[in-house]
Amino acid sequence: MLDSLRLTARTGSANPYAFYLDGDFTLKWRPVPEPRHEQNRMKKKQDTLIVTAGRDPEANFGIVNPPVYHASTVLYPTIEAVKARTQPVTYGRRGTPTTFALQDAIAELEGGYRSVLTPSGLAAVTTALLAHLKTGDHLLMTDSVYEPSRHFCDKVLMRYGIAVEYYDPRIGAGIEKLIRPETKAIFTESPGSVTFEVQDIPAIADVAHLSGVLLMMDNTWASPLYFKPFEHGVDVSIQAVTKYLCGHSDVMMGSITTTEAAWKETLAGHGALGTCAAPDDIYLVLRGIRTLSVRLERHMQTGLKLAHWLAGRPEVARVIHPALPSHPDHAIWKRDFTGASGLFSIELQPCSDKALAALLDGLELFGMGYSWGGFESLIIPQYPAKIRTATRWTAAGQILRLHAGLEDPDDLIADLKAGFERLHAANG
Ligand SMILES: *Cc1c(COP(=O)(O)O)cnc(C)c1O
Repeated sequence: MLDSLRLTARTGSANPYAFYLDGDFTLKWRPVPEPRHEQNRMKKKQDTLIVTAGRDPEANFGIVNPPVYHASTVLYPTIEAVKARTQPVTYGRRGTPTTFALQDAIAELEGGYRSVLTPSGLAAVTTALLAHLKTGDHLLMTDSVYEPSRHFCDKVLMRYGIAVEYYDPRIGAGIEKLIRPETKAIFTESPGSVTFEVQDIPAIADVAHLSGVLLMMDNTWASPLYFKPFEHGVDVSIQAVTKYLCGHSDVMMGSITTTEAAWKETLAGHGALGTCAAPDDIYLVLRGIRTLSVRLERHMQTGLKLAHWLAGRPEVARVIHPALPSHPDHAIWKRDFTGASGLFSIELQPCSDKALAALLDGLELFGMGYSWGGFESLIIPQYPAKIRTATRWTAAGQILRLHAGLEDPDDLIADLKAGFERLHAANG
């Protein structure tokens, strides 16, 4: 048993929970071993990291993929070990070597200090906010934020006496005027996952850091591959792992990755809230991330092909894709991002409900459903005008959000083309 405990300790040594509740229920900290990626000497390029990150075959009998540990109870060999609290794996909720493997991999890909996993992307948003905010604090929240994140602010944070103020996503350095003495954090989502405003993260980071304010970012759209949050001044980066990191539309998960300075509070909040992810799901994501680069490249190419084709269609008033020069924030996207994912929106020319239904209901390849980031193409109507409070969404036409999947792009175009023909027929 001792041997197996030692093995577990070794495989899990990379990212153990570092806090514990003392006898009098105060949080105490213990030193933790350096994450494995910080011990790595070789500076690897991104595509190599995608293959190696979070893996330690040497500690796992040579097995290539990290194994799935199912655990609640973890045994201690002696009372000495119980009291010392230095054992890296302590309890299922606080993570097993499976958990640590994915946490290490995500931290390394995002370029942050360490990561924790949560049972959904929304739980990553709520856990990060709850970990850092307290009653009386002021939070600046982008008006373009993912709607359930806004719902959490309005229904939960406000109820706990946290002042949430929405701001124009295009505010840039102008956010300085909104900073108050009690401002604790600025939350960004770039680009917004429905309306695709690209935020000037470096300009916002400069203001945040001069004012001692924490900068959080939902980095789901670009994934860790196409936007490096920590190189642009972000302190806390959130991924809906559900999307591209999983990549197969069958897992819910989130991650929070932070700088070293923001780590302790994040970890304490995550531990206190008990928002842990499940081992089989983690295993599926560990599989999914190994193909992230090749998948994303294809999502990007197909997304661009669809976007260009749609831009030439008379039924489309506007294509809202940050990688198109016609996008108002294209210059910021080009400066800060190294690629585009497969998610973008279009605004249709005004049409009847009947015509819209004829377009959408008859599509063969584009499924109608929420979420995105899987291998299949999706389309969904969106209604940003109903959600905004700091800015106004005035577009007259229906917004449709598309996710370009891994199908043949010409087949996807044919599917949309037939949809537009149905739209015309229904318009009469
Ligand atoms: C989907 C999504 C989330 C939430 O992720 P879930 O896993 O669905 O809870 C958060 N932020 C963005 C930008 C998303 O697209």
